[in-house]
Amino acid sequence: MSGNEQRYIKEAFDEGWVVPLGPNVNGFEEDLRCFVTQSEAPSDKQVVALSSGTAAVHLALIQEGVGPGDEVLCQSFTFCASCHPITYLGATPVLVDSEPDTWNMDPELLERAIQDRIAKTGRKPKAIVVVYLYGMPAKIKEIMEVAQRYDIPVIEDAAEALGSCYRGQVCGTFGDYGVLSFNGNKMITTSGGGALICPSPEAKREVMFYATQAREAYPYYQHEKIGYNYRMSNICAGIGRGQMTILNDHIAHHRRLAEIYEEEFKDVDGLTFHKAPSEEMESNYWLNTIVLHPDLKIRGQEKAYQSAVKGAVGGAAGVTHESESIHTGSEPNANVEALRLALDALNVESRPLWKPMHLQPVYADVPAYVNGVSEALFHRGLCLPSGPMVSEEQARWIAQQIKHCVIRQED
Ligand SMILES: *Cc1c(COP(=O)(O)O)cnc(C)c1O
Repeated sequence: MSGNEQRYIKEAFDEGWVVPLGPNVNGFEEDLRCFVTQSEAPSDKQVVALSSGTAAVHLALIQEGVGPGDEVLCQSFTFCASCHPITYLGATPVLVDSEPDTWNMDPELLERAIQDRIAKTGRKPKAIVVVYLYGMPAKIKEIMEVAQRYDIPVIEDAAEALGSCYRGQVCGTFGDYGVLSFNGNKMITTSGGGALICPSPEAKREVMFYATQAREAYPYYQHEKIGYNYRMSNICAGIGRGQMTILNDHIAHHRRLAEIYEEEFKDVDGLTFHKAPSEEMESNYWLNTIVLHPDLKIRGQEKAYQSAVKGAVGGAAGVTHESESIHTGSEPNANVEALRLALDALNVESRPLWKPMHLQPVYADVPAYVNGVSEALFHRGLCLPSGPMVSEEQARWIAQQIKHCVIRQED
């Protein structure tokens, strides 16, 4: 928190704007618009503040006309919120695997998936949801080329990528719509919230219409469409305005921690820091991640899966179902789990990479175009502490502890 958050919230109370409209909502949207377009000048791109990033994905799909029976191509290697709103709409996600450089959607596999869906169903998928996982830019130029060749709109899920750029352009501004999230764990937070980057003022008006229960202009409630209660409150937007003043500091801090982890691990055989593959891809390094080679030995790995996890990793205890078994059909390798447990014993939270959607039981029956990349990453990868509360000294100490867990060949 920057300190300004309290001032904006107090203003909201003093002026009576505690509803989902008011000066903070407008101010936050304008701050975001300037940030993503990198310009104070008016631009076609507009931003709508919403109650969550998930709501933003949902409304973007509605804008693209997605409905029952449609198919939507979605990156498999992602958090479920990129994909679930496709299901909310009665459409079917068609999952596309990643390429190994950025870990995001593989443009060649995307094209093959489009051709195969057209051959099999006789219809084009309605939209493409591409994700900037852990803040890493995707090969968005190639993805946009494929999308344009088949005239399919692109929704960018930049929930984890606020401030990441590809060739100097902000991620979330390449396609029709860009999704942002201000959940508690994201680059900045409004305690909970999201936003949708829209292509035009008309699109913004339409998104706001659906985000406020689709009310027609009559003195009484008149409904001709199904709407949602998805607008951000003026209170949350006040937090957002304060957070915007420290956004660049947060991004700089995440990048500094990335440099430290990269430096610390560069000489460790079998342990690889996930780094942007080229200069033109500027990650915000929202989460710093490492990959462990399957042959890398970690102390205690033979005991890694002996007891079931109690409560979910990362403070979601109490809102998860109790797990019934220690193993699932696809899980991180024993060395990764051993490292997670060792860090946990030191009070350091880490987490396996996101389990791809095509490996989730709930999506067992949807079409998937896979190449093994995201599954291998899920088996081998770990997310490390990366936020503003982690100091540079702590990151160095964490890296040292990780190195102590590695059993070197000559030991
Ligand atoms: C967090 C996240 C979302 C959803 O955002 P919420 O604000 O939590 O609803 C969507 N996609 C990705 C990739 C995310 O990490």
